[in-house]
Amino acid sequence: MAKIVFRDRSNSLSEDQKNIIRAAFRHALVIQRLVEQDFNALMNVPRRRRKRAIHDYGKIKKWIGIQKRGRLRRIARRVSKLRKWLENRRILVVFHEQEDFICADTRRGASRGARYISPVIRFHMCEDFFNGSGNRMADLIIHELCHEMGHLHAINDRHADILALAAGRDAHRVARNPLTYQGLFREYTVEPINV
Ligand SMILES: [Zn+2]
Repeated sequence: MAKIVFRDRSNSLSEDQKNIIRAAFRHALVIQRLVEQDFNALMNVPRRRRKRAIHDYGKIKKWIGIQKRGRLRRIARRVSKLRKWLENRRILVVFHEQEDFICADTRRGASRGARYISPVIRFHMCEDFFNGSGNRMADLIIHELCHEMGHLHAINDRHADILALAAGRDAHRVARNPLTYQGLFREYTVEPINV
């Protein structure tokens, strides 16, 4: 499991809350394994039939759409990278007072440059993190890790936009969007994101 280190800027983070955060990271990894299982099965389909085989994986089709082989491979690699990060990386959770740091991302991401990868994964959060269910916490972790990989989305993107793009001719546009992976991962829980 990733090593999680806390930096508490609020001076109010309790041991219970730290345990909830650790559990959320573990839960994200549990979901990741389910997602990766489907991708592995899909990538094992012979190349010629792979694109068509996406239709057999309803959850992937819903959030990713029908992708060309090369792009599908890159998406599958991102999914495994999420596992490697959740398994091995050192993750610094910076806990802030009040303000919603959970997705203050478009600017943060943009200012760091899309390709910048820090040796330590920094994860900003605040009390709001605890408002959601365990599945919700896990999907926020996935969303933020995608930003750490350098992926961005437009300020007003919504999950509904991702689904619409995935279903249409512009499915390639969902391939790097954190909202895509967030929605996909939640699809593997008992409470998929409602759009
Ligand atoms: Zn975001």
